[in-house]
Amino acid sequence: MNRQQVTNIEVKKANRNRVFRYIYKNGTVSNPDISYEMKMSLPTVTQITRELIEKGLIEELGEFQSTGGRRAKALSVATNVKEAAGLDITRDHVSMVLINLKGEVLKSACIEKDYSPGEAYYHSVSQWLENFLDEGGADRERLLGLGISYPGIIDQEKGMATFSHVLGEKSVPLENISRYFPYPCYFLNDANAAAYVEGSRAESAERFVYMFVANMVGGAIFENYEMVQGKNFRCGEIGHMTIVPDGELCYCGKKGHLDTYCSAKRLKEAADGSIEEFFRRLDQGDGKLAGIWDRYTTYMAMAVNNIHMLLDCDVVLGGYLGRYMGDHIRDIRNKVAQRNTFEEDGSFVRACKCRIDEAALGVALKVVANFIEQI
Ligand SMILES: [Zn+2]
Repeated sequence: MNRQQVTNIEVKKANRNRVFRYIYKNGTVSNPDISYEMKMSLPTVTQITRELIEKGLIEELGEFQSTGGRRAKALSVATNVKEAAGLDITRDHVSMVLINLKGEVLKSACIEKDYSPGEAYYHSVSQWLENFLDEGGADRERLLGLGISYPGIIDQEKGMATFSHVLGEKSVPLENISRYFPYPCYFLNDANAAAYVEGSRAESAERFVYMFVANMVGGAIFENYEMVQGKNFRCGEIGHMTIVPDGELCYCGKKGHLDTYCSAKRLKEAADGSIEEFFRRLDQGDGKLAGIWDRYTTYMAMAVNNIHMLLDCDVVLGGYLGRYMGDHIRDIRNKVAQRNTFEEDGSFVRACKCRIDEAALGVALKVVANFIEQI
C-alpha cells in the first residue's frame, strides 16, 4: 500500500469515528442532520452510516416526519450490540455493573467481601462476576471487556498498581489481577473511575475537579472529557494536600493531610458507622454532630477554595459525601464563598450526579469509550 492509500484509509476511519460519535452523543439523528452539522457531503455520510449499520453498531428506528421531499431515516446507536462490565474492588466490598453500548446500566450488584491478598480472593470474585453476568443475561461474545476500579495508583505504562495503602499492597503487576478474569481488562484508580462517570457525561468540555470523598479522599481533574494523568499518574491525589501544618497523622505516614480531616470516615465514626445516619441526626438538630460538621466543612472549604484558586473551575463533590449530604452542600458553599478572593460565591461547588456504583460504572464506561475510539 502506498502512502496515499494509507492516508485515504486513515481519513475514512477518522470520518467514520466522528460520525459514530455524533450519533452516540445526539441520540436519534438522520443522515441530512449529520451532513449539515459535520459539514460532510450527504453521499459520504450515507456511505458511512450504511457501513455502521452493516457492522451492527447503529440501527434504523423508522423515519422522521417529512417536511417535504423524501423522509429521512432515523438512526441511533444499536443498544444491545455490545456490553461492558465494571468491577470495583474495595477493602470491604465488591461492586459490579453490566452496561450496554449506550452506557445504560443493565444490572448492578454489591457484595460484602473483605479484601485479602492472593488467589482465594480473586477466585471468588471471579466466580461472583460470572454468576452476576449469567443473571444479567450477558452474552460473552458481546462483552467488550471488564473494567476494574482499584483503590490505588495505576501506572498504565508499566502495567502496575504501584501503591494501595487501603489494601496494603505495593507494586502489584496488573496481570496478577487480570489473569483471574477471562476478559480483556482495563484498570482505573477508584477516584478516577468515579470521576469518569461525571466527566464522560459532562455537558461541556470545561475543566472540573472531582473530589472522591469516601473512606479516603481522592480526586481527578477533567478537561475536554478526559482525565489529566500527571507525570506519575498521581494527578488529583488531593487527599494528601497539606491542610494543617504538622497536623494529625495521615494513613500515608505524613501529617496534616486533607484525608485525615475530610474523609467520609470522620462523619461515619460519629454516627455508628453510617454516613446516612450522620446526616439524619444532623437534620434532627444533634448539637454534637453539628460541631463535627462545622469543623469538617471548614477544612473542606479550605481545600475547595485552594483548588478553585489554582484551577479556576467547578468542583464536584462525589463519593459518600456527594451521595448523602443533600442540602447540606449549602454549608460548604457558604464557607467557600467567605474564602473566595474574587466574589462572594460558592456556587461552583456541586454534588456529583451519579450516586450509586460510580466507580464500577465509571471504569465500565471507560471500556466502552476505548471501544468507540477504535471504531
Ligand atoms: Zn497523606
